[in-house]
Amino acid sequence: MKLIILGLICVVVFLSTLSSRAQPATGPTTQSAPTRKLSYKLSGGADKWDAEARKKIVAAMDAAVATYNEQGEFNRVITANYNPGTPTADANFDGWINFGGQVGKRTAMHEIAHTMGIGTQSKWHAMIKDGKWTGEHAIAQLREFDGPDAILHADRQHFWPYGLNFEKEGGEVNEKRHVKMVAALRRDMKLKD
Ligand SMILES: [Zn+2]
Repeated sequence: MKLIILGLICVVVFLSTLSSRAQPATGPTTQSAPTRKLSYKLSGGADKWDAEARKKIVAAMDAAVATYNEQGEFNRVITANYNPGTPTADANFDGWINFGGQVGKRTAMHEIAHTMGIGTQSKWHAMIKDGKWTGEHAIAQLREFDGPDAILHADRQHFWPYGLNFEKEGGEVNEKRHVKMVAALRRDMKLKD
């Protein structure tokens, strides 16, 4: 089955190459839609951070942002800060992340979710009833992963499953699903950027 799909994709790519070649050079150029990308920068003074900490933060953010961009479209710029006084890590809806005692891809993805409005936006709280998320998009997305009986739990700050709330929740599949969940939760909150 996979081979057939791959074959079809190849045919489609080949045909679209043909059709684009067939266009006259003077004809209207089709512009691709602007891509919505998530990006990040380090906060001011990053050159004075502990070098080892900076290396770990950059590696974590690079990996986390790559997975977000691979699995979804988010047009936001995040600032990563190193604050040795922060016990683990925290983040706010303005796009600011403080890394302290906990740095890694799973942590970075979790904090990025907070900058996207997960537990940090007023609309978040309105969508929760009796400890459960009520938005249709995120519930539908979860049930696509876990079946028709899956329940999407949420509290004032977090959601689960796939919230990447603890280290044991990491791993490639969970990380990919986390991004899909964040996108669906944002659709439920009607957050664009
Ligand atoms: Zn959190």
